[in-house]
Amino acid sequence: MSKLDVNRREFLKIAAASGAALAVPSLAQSSVSSKMIGIQVGAISFLDEGTEKVLDILQERACVNTLFLAVFTYGRGIAGRQIPGYPLPDHGKQEYDLNYHGGNFATPHPQYYKNTVIQPAHAPDHGDLDILAEVLPAAKKRGLKVICWMEDVFRPDLPGIEKVQERDLYGRNMETLCVNNPNYLNFFTGLVEDFARSYDIDGIMWGSERQGALSDSLGATHDTPPIDPGNVTCFCEFCQRKAKERGINPERAKQGFLELEKFVRAARSGKRPSDGYYVQFWRILLRYPELAAWEMLFTDSLRETYAALYKTVKTAKPTVPVGWHIWHNTSFNPIYRAEQDWQELSKYSDFIKVVMYNNCGGERMALYVDNIGSTLFGDLTKQQLTEFNYEVMGFKERGYDQIPYTGLSADYVTQETKRALAGVAGTKTQIWPGLDVDIPTEAPNSKRTRQSVKDAVTAALSAGAPGVILSRKYSEMRLANLSGAGDAIRELKLSS
Ligand SMILES: [Zn+2]
Repeated sequence: MSKLDVNRREFLKIAAASGAALAVPSLAQSSVSSKMIGIQVGAISFLDEGTEKVLDILQERACVNTLFLAVFTYGRGIAGRQIPGYPLPDHGKQEYDLNYHGGNFATPHPQYYKNTVIQPAHAPDHGDLDILAEVLPAAKKRGLKVICWMEDVFRPDLPGIEKVQERDLYGRNMETLCVNNPNYLNFFTGLVEDFARSYDIDGIMWGSERQGALSDSLGATHDTPPIDPGNVTCFCEFCQRKAKERGINPERAKQGFLELEKFVRAARSGKRPSDGYYVQFWRILLRYPELAAWEMLFTDSLRETYAALYKTVKTAKPTVPVGWHIWHNTSFNPIYRAEQDWQELSKYSDFIKVVMYNNCGGERMALYVDNIGSTLFGDLTKQQLTEFNYEVMGFKERGYDQIPYTGLSADYVTQETKRALAGVAGTKTQIWPGLDVDIPTEAPNSKRTRQSVKDAVTAALSAGAPGVILSRKYSEMRLANLSGAGDAIRELKLSS
């Protein structure tokens, strides 16, 4: 089936059919929580199931009062149907959208995209459908808020995109875009201004799941496979110029990353340095402190992006809240956690979604241990490294051999919520924990249940969070597990 087969006419038919069901009084109207109960949802779900029906389900089952509508991404994580190869949930069309494309699922207004080579393209997936124009009126009628949710995931086949792509250690183009390339910043400031001025929205959430070259070279993430140490970024002309302005010598940085690359390759092939892995890493870092400086160059540049987006939205419409999705790696990699300084971020954050997905967190923690245990901590057993990481990160969880099958506990959610709340203490910034509902895990690994969703939501809200965000997208969630969120909210007597 062509991606244009599902067009707006067909969509209106589905919407009209589901509208008829509204003649039956809905429970939804009476379920309004005093806390922000959010869910991430993409355009495809409204198209597949009908706008009113989706809103009924979200309100009745999960007491949702805020939609985080995926309005811009070229990625599959937050838009489109279930990832091909994983089981489809018990709602929506029972087939994979193999021709997913992505882009702007609303209507881009060209006047906001003047100083960038990145085209403000409307996502071609659903014809001329503008998902904000479709969902906003229906949501407002029910008193639901709509927050525009977007991430910096692009396709390599977009016109002109190669001019904005990051350059790796050897100068090769990567698929990720450079935060120091003016085309990148101008595109995203244009995008958020467009949403803020063109639609009556209730907020903007933006996310970038990336870290600097030092962490990437060491494989300090749960990503699988970890990035190749020769592909670390970014060494483009803009990054080199910015480095020089900060007093960092780009050539020294490159030499350091070449040394680190050799270390990582040798470690992954099991060649232990005579003084041990940890000591050898420190020898390289002490010789090339530029490695740490390059990591912070990225982190500061991403912070500057947050600050610029915040300022743009506040200038366009001061009442629109702005906040960020912070990557799950903040639970695994202590270096990345150090870079997420909540006090610093709070200066340009009305809210922060701190990812604390506890079900898939077990599988991911074990993957992190596999990755970093093959480089920096090659002298520790997987179990020793897991225990070390729990101690430095403040967790008490099961062993390395168990967590892929059990997930992390609800107590992990409690600890992460308390940590984030302490981090923003004394500021206006709200912490909205991101909780996973059916984010796919490998076949033998732990799956969500209604009870485990309930436990996670209860843990976050009981620890004092003023809201939660059910993640990553409604189109991958099972209905019964969505009800686990509603169970928690009703039991806590947070819904009126
Ligand atoms: Zn760059």
